[in-house]
Amino acid sequence: KARHFDVVIIGAGASGLMCAAVAGARGRRVLVLDHANKVGKKILMSGGGRCNFTNRHVGPDNYLCHNPHFVKSALSRYTPADFIALVERHRIAYHERSHGQLFCDHSAKDILRMLLDECRAGGVRIETRSPVSDLRIGEPHQLFCPQGPVSCESLVIATGGCSIPTLGATDFGMALARSLGMTVHPPRPALVPLTLSGRTLERVRDLSGIALEARVTVADHSFRENLLFTHRGLSGPAVLQASSYWEPGLPVEIDLLPELDLAAHLQRLRRERPKMALKTWLGQHLTRRVAQRWCECWVEDKPLEQLTTGDMDAVEAACKRWTVWPSGTEGYRTAEVTVGGVDTEALSSKTMACRDQPGLYFIGEVMDVTGHLGGYNFQWAWSSGHAAGQCV
Ligand code: FAD
Repeated sequence: KARHFDVVIIGAGASGLMCAAVAGARGRRVLVLDHANKVGKKILMSGGGRCNFTNRHVGPDNYLCHNPHFVKSALSRYTPADFIALVERHRIAYHERSHGQLFCDHSAKDILRMLLDECRAGGVRIETRSPVSDLRIGEPHQLFCPQGPVSCESLVIATGGCSIPTLGATDFGMALARSLGMTVHPPRPALVPLTLSGRTLERVRDLSGIALEARVTVADHSFRENLLFTHRGLSGPAVLQASSYWEPGLPVEIDLLPELDLAAHLQRLRRERPKMALKTWLGQHLTRRVAQRWCECWVEDKPLEQLTTGDMDAVEAACKRWTVWPSGTEGYRTAEVTVGGVDTEALSSKTMACRDQPGLYFIGEVMDVTGHLGGYNFQWAWSSGHAAGQCV
């Protein structure tokens, strides 16, 4: 005989656990199923083990979505302040880093424990090692898991994106949406290092490990943070952010001197320090090794007083508009998130419910909503999970 629940949630990650806790607190009978051996693995891995659980400044501009207005409703009804209040109620110590990012003082385990405590208080049942088979969408929904058949009024898909398959990521949610005739925007890895090849890689490979502040631009989206040279290409927060907008064939433009009006600065310096070598000056801004390499490959080292207009243009192009054509990304193996997913047009922005499938919901990263780096992805998991949890 089938077990019956008001709500079944597939995926015990950030959004699924939030949704379960909220629905449980409303007195709904909730079952959460996850195929992995443990719940919330990405929460535990996040923020270098400290979980960047939200950001003080969250708005629609921090998200990629084919419908940029979609996120507004859920984000405004469950805000970073609401999640911070929950964290404080559970006496979890946290701190703020740059750009409004909030991290646990001790461990990401605190956030997972908090969510599990909230689920327990709401009588939520969680079953791990429970892959779902034989899923039939209907009224009620019916499915089969290792513990036997289950039926429910509300089914919530919280299976996340495709990044880091070794942590249990699958395309389950997107495949289900496709099978129901829903539009799914092609997924691709995001917040991911970019790879270089050929001459460009040869020129920068041995700079691996050097970090510089830079402005990185892809398709008119610019991010000013650190850039890191790696043995396969480029990484660091500025590159990770830009990677979410990168598609094969697009150039990436890099300003290695983002704080400088280069022409004016060099004109003045030529008067004040005419004998100074260009390489020495570049070394003060780009590190000695990067300056050395840039002088080998792109600009000619000479005393500043001898720089011609053509030389100045070459410095400007090499340092303020260094352009690379990545060969690819490091892929889902290292990507923090997935761009693309279930199209939001088919969903209610207030409840995350499918318009055409009664009692079916999609929440979290499986949807076509992808946050920038800095706690925005978890905030979307909390806000969308909360929105559905109040309605199921
Ligand atoms: P997830 O949290 O990924 O949960 C999905 C769950 O579904 C998993 O438990 C999975 O096992 C389960 N599942 C998948 N397929 C199936 C299936 N077929 N059947 C049953 N269960 C299934 N974001 C931030 O905001 N701040 C950070 O500091 C941060 N750090 C990160 C660090 C790393 C290394 C990674 C990979 C991501 C990080 N993110 C961070 C992104 C963030 O973790 C995700 O955006 C967020 O977890 C998405 O929540 P979700 O509930 O949609 O999916």
